[in-house]
Amino acid sequence: MLQYHTLPVTPFQQNCSLVWCGETLKTAVIDPGGDLDRLLAEVARRGLALEQIWLTHAHIDHAGGTAELARRLGLPIVGPHRGDQFWIDALPQQGAMFGFPPAEAFTPTRWLEDGDTVALAGHTLQVRHCPGHTPGHVVFFSPELQRAFVGDVLFAGSIGRTDFPQGNHDQLIASITQRLWPMGDETVFIPGHGPESSFGRERKTNPYVGGT
Ligand SMILES: [Zn+2]
Ligand SMILES: [Zn+2]
Repeated sequence: MLQYHTLPVTPFQQNCSLVWCGETLKTAVIDPGGDLDRLLAEVARRGLALEQIWLTHAHIDHAGGTAELARRLGLPIVGPHRGDQFWIDALPQQGAMFGFPPAEAFTPTRWLEDGDTVALAGHTLQVRHCPGHTPGHVVFFSPELQRAFVGDVLFAGSIGRTDFPQGNHDQLIASITQRLWPMGDETVFIPGHGPESSFGRERKTNPYVGGT
């Protein structure tokens, strides 16, 4: 069985998640934005074997610690979609833009496409391309856990910003209604910031996408 633990990192309190196989303890980290020492202390405390980095998108609060973590532990970088190449290239400048220490750019080991899967010790998660907040944003869905890791696409009671370069509001709404809602009302999502919610609850109450 898969398990997960979410740990807010960086001054933006970004929800970095550790996802692991309960039998083998093989682990992926989703969106290591920073605070790597705290993250690795959590990995050690739980006795986990960190093997992969998965990225939803390349904003610095989500991807800022990627290059250093990959180098320190020799980990593959999986995702995001190629549409976020320009955000990856801009990681050093994003530091100044958002008031973070400078972050290094990197080259993903594997870019992700809509319909791809990622695997951890035989457990499979589905990848959906959900552009709008950034053009290369992806989400990870585990039918086994009934959980989706959605980055900055959707929040409890809100949606992602679309006022960044290549942000697109209509595209974001389409990503949410056509790619997230089919994952099921019962599915609980872990957003990039703030508390978890379910797609069913957001469909009913979220002022930006309620009633869709
Ligand atoms: Zn973002
Ligand atoms: Zn974010």
